[in-house]
Amino acid sequence: MAEPLLIAEGLSFSYGERCALQDVALDVRENELVAIVGPNGSGKSTLCRLLAGLRVPSTGSVQVAGSDIFRTTARERARRVAYLPQDLQVPFETSVLELVLLGRLSWQEGLALATDDDLARANRALEFVGIADLAARPYGALSGGERRRAAIAMVLAQSARLMVLDEPANALDLRHAWDLLARLREQQATAVVVVHDLALASSCFDRALLLAKGRVVTFDAPQIALTEATIEAAYGIAVHRVTTADGGRVGFLPRA
Ligand code: ADP
Ligand code: MG
Repeated sequence: MAEPLLIAEGLSFSYGERCALQDVALDVRENELVAIVGPNGSGKSTLCRLLAGLRVPSTGSVQVAGSDIFRTTARERARRVAYLPQDLQVPFETSVLELVLLGRLSWQEGLALATDDDLARANRALEFVGIADLAARPYGALSGGERRRAAIAMVLAQSARLMVLDEPANALDLRHAWDLLARLREQQATAVVVVHDLALASSCFDRALLLAKGRVVTFDAPQIALTEATIEAAYGIAVHRVTTADGGRVGFLPRA
């Protein structure tokens, strides 16, 4: 079998005295969708920053396509890994198309203007998230869910081999959240995706990594990784695992 596209080993990270991650390992194969789940403050966003090469771990390594993510130029890193922060800061007057074209920066030489190829990729990304009609609108004039989709389009336009998406479905309605995952699958994307919705995590991903207090609880196929026992252990709440009548969808509901 081919080497995984991403291999992270032994990752630990602290913010000053506060240990946020301890000895975390994961790998992501080409065309694989991996969910990162875990309670608030469990280290999901910190892990994303390390995988994207934006924070340097105190121990451990991150390899993408066979090379160390911390020993590449910013441009090379951006061509390999496209990262969507949990909370993207965008000047409100930026138009949606301008924002999405920012995703093309790592492919442009010097101060070159966007090429036809850049524009085509930006437009495809806007269509992917279903907001092509909003291209000329200022970012500040969009709804929360529309802003999130514009940010996702920027990351898609980057055309990197791996995507690291920190809560992309945050603020998305039911249809857009499930559509996003279905489309990533259709496009055979390779992505690490933080999700809070355990139904999405259970139904739309090849594997799920469950974090609690900065450590990996389990990392496996969702039906193995996400069980009543592991969810209870990680989140400290007793849950029922429920399946739809056809067995195709799984969710978790509090017992009490
Ligand atoms: P999650 O994304 O799972 O909610 P984070 O990775 O954001 O968790 O945070 C993990 C831990 O690190 C939390 O205890 C959080 O308070 C802390 N933390 C996150 N970012 C910072 C920061 N910039 N400075 C100090 N502590 C931080
Ligand atoms: Mg987070």
